Amino acid sequence: MKRIDLHAHTTASDGSLSPTELVRAAKEAGLAAVAVTDHDITAGIAEAAAAGEAEGVEVVPGVEVSAEYKPGQMHILGLLIDPDATELSDWLGEILDGRNDRNPRIVAALQDLGIAITMEEVEAVAGEGAVGRPHIAQVLLAKGVVKDIQEAFDRYLATGMPAYFDRVRATPESAIAQIHRAGGVAILAHCHYCGAKDANELESVIRRLKESGLDGMEVHHSTFRDEDRRAAESICVKLDLLPSGGSDFHGALKPDIQLGVGRGNLAISYEILAGLKEAKASHT
Ligand code: AMP
Ligand code: ZN
Ligand code: FE
Ligand code: FE
Repeated sequence: MKRIDLHAHTTASDGSLSPTELVRAAKEAGLAAVAVTDHDITAGIAEAAAAGEAEGVEVVPGVEVSAEYKPGQMHILGLLIDPDATELSDWLGEILDGRNDRNPRIVAALQDLGIAITMEEVEAVAGEGAVGRPHIAQVLLAKGVVKDIQEAFDRYLATGMPAYFDRVRATPESAIAQIHRAGGVAILAHCHYCGAKDANELESVIRRLKESGLDGMEVHHSTFRDEDRRAAESICVKLDLLPSGGSDFHGALKPDIQLGVGRGNLAISYEILAGLKEAKASHT
């Protein structure tokens, strides 16, 4: 079976591998294709595509859009997007502005809590691209304020914690529309993050997204327990959505998740990508 991974981050957002390193890691992992899906940014795609040519790995251009949703989070993947679609990158730029407003507020709140941390330190860790809470967590870890990234979220950065601030996000509907306009297919990532209280509520949330044009949803993800996968699969079939899947690889930031296999629980067939390509072809 040809295996793939349709959810991975690079240094363009909060992954620790550069786009080139990600493609090489995909080759080493024996993957036929890997999608670059950075948070709210497409800046890593061009380098990955060039590395893909050189290494003989198919690179799927993608993005993971953070959409507004309560009480949880909603991330919508755009896969097979046109990386040169300027309308999409301009629109993502507005979301990035929201991140750039938020980060100094988080840092100031940490300072108020007596932690010596500066935006310069966060920017040095993040490099260019989308700066996010995982980068702030990394600085806290390096300073010995916390013992791992998870503790940084649990004590300071997660929703409701003392250094949490929300930011401007896209609506799910606008994310789907922008992904379509850029020639991509819109896929709901890790659906159980949305905070639905039971399977019925989850299904009705996804049904509404489908009415707004959602093409598919992840049925394979590193965080899925067996019952999550089964629940996702049954909604996917019931609502006539396309299945997708990926590890959500971040490199050193989430060291327990490996490209292609996640925590050892993943084996995603190339057939899934073939299905997404068919859907893309029928859109245009
Ligand atoms: P941001 O893009 O700044 O909103 O941060 C999102 C990133 O932080 C994603 O990679 C999430 O997986 C990670 N994240 C968000 N909430 C938590 C949490 N409670 N624990 C660990 N990681 C989290
Ligand atoms: Zn991330
Ligand atoms: Fe996500
Ligand atoms: Fe992700």
